[in-house]
Amino acid sequence: MRIVMKFGGTSLGDGEKIKNAAKIIRDHLEKNEVIVVCSAMAGITDKLFSLVEKGVRGRVKDVETTLNEISDTHLKALDAALSNENLKKEVKQLLEDLFNELRRAVMSVLYLREVTPRSRDYIVSFGERLSTRIMWGALTELGVNCKYLDGGDAGIVTDSNFGEASPLMEITRLEVRRRLGSLLDRGITPIVTGYIAVNEEGVTTTLGRGGSDYTATILGYCLDVDEVWLWSDVDGLMTADPKIVKNAKVIPTVSFSEAIEMALFGAKNLHPRALEPALQAGIKVRIKNTFNPSAPGTLITTTSEKSGSVVKAVLLVKDVAMLTIRGASMVGRPGTVAKILETLARENINIMMISQSVSESSVSIVIKKQFLAKALSKLETALLGSKLVEDIEAEEDVCVVAVVGEGMRGTPGVASRVFGAVAKKGINIRMIAQGSSELNISFVVKDEDGPEAVRAIHEEYNL
Ligand code: ASP
Ligand code: MG
Repeated sequence: MRIVMKFGGTSLGDGEKIKNAAKIIRDHLEKNEVIVVCSAMAGITDKLFSLVEKGVRGRVKDVETTLNEISDTHLKALDAALSNENLKKEVKQLLEDLFNELRRAVMSVLYLREVTPRSRDYIVSFGERLSTRIMWGALTELGVNCKYLDGGDAGIVTDSNFGEASPLMEITRLEVRRRLGSLLDRGITPIVTGYIAVNEEGVTTTLGRGGSDYTATILGYCLDVDEVWLWSDVDGLMTADPKIVKNAKVIPTVSFSEAIEMALFGAKNLHPRALEPALQAGIKVRIKNTFNPSAPGTLITTTSEKSGSVVKAVLLVKDVAMLTIRGASMVGRPGTVAKILETLARENINIMMISQSVSESSVSIVIKKQFLAKALSKLETALLGSKLVEDIEAEEDVCVVAVVGEGMRGTPGVASRVFGAVAKKGINIRMIAQGSSELNISFVVKDEDGPEAVRAIHEEYNL
């Protein structure tokens, strides 16, 4: 088989873990062709983002401390991942060069007290560039003939939407096939940085947080691979968060639509757009655990093998806020919802849920909590003057429970069973939304009721 294997940050969390990941790759190379994609080491991308912020605020000392932490982490990892001293020296030089490059970039932010989306992308790209060099060393030491490449050098070309760039698929496909195809033909295993790419001018871009998954499926699509394996530190997608539900289980198979739905609701760090290329090309995606590699994991596939239950997973989404916009004059007047959506879209605030009462006298929306203050002030400015809206209420102490499963489509009675189970626990439901795809039912409850509601549904469906 030809497989893309992407390793998440926790799977590359220190030198031992990198060595472990390298061994997994080597073992699979006996029978397969593997294209390796590496995330940054755990926590490094966050640190790089914080470097930018500290630079803008002129915090010289903090910048120094963080730069040192980043270099320490990688040098330590290198030391533990490799034993061959010559090879170590070679990789160390590669890392030092990158540290210097990073330092220069951060210094310019520090002096100018200013950052552009473009220079931010450049700075946060270093995590993946560093981790791939160590992985190269570890694999080389294991006797694997391999080569590290930055996303752009591997052929991934995006638009110039820095921070959340989208691949230009036609040119990317051509370039990736040309560049990586020729390596594979010569028996060389490519190790590609996740998350980062270049625009058409060759300037570094990033695919958005968690974008290494996306890199993996983009490469999978371009190289007609059989499967994409996303290695992380969990056994797969779970029926619920095991911290909430003790007997939560790994789900053996989910459809692409279910996985996308779960990703949107934040289940285990799946990049929401990452599944698109795999879906398009019909490539199977597996989620596997580097710390338990023999476990089967979760398989995401197009051929939806119906499992017994119509409900596959119950997810709890925290850090959200609900806004309720009320006004008797909204009734029968088209355009209020449009205005709400428009106002928030202009601020780049994503709406996670929306529902309107049939009477049209109130609209509730759910957004991420971090955007609440901004959303509230913008909506007040846009709506309260209009006399249509009397009152906007904000609630911060809420969470969303999302029930996901393709089998719910066309199965009557799911809603009543779900809400019945919740009602039996005496939990009050504040707002309900069901997408017309019927893939999920989501509802809002008070923060303190969230875990109990999840357990009630998990139990009701015997997940
Ligand atoms: N390192 C990037 C991030 O933390 C991309 C990834 O890990 O997938 O967002
Ligand atoms: Mg990560």
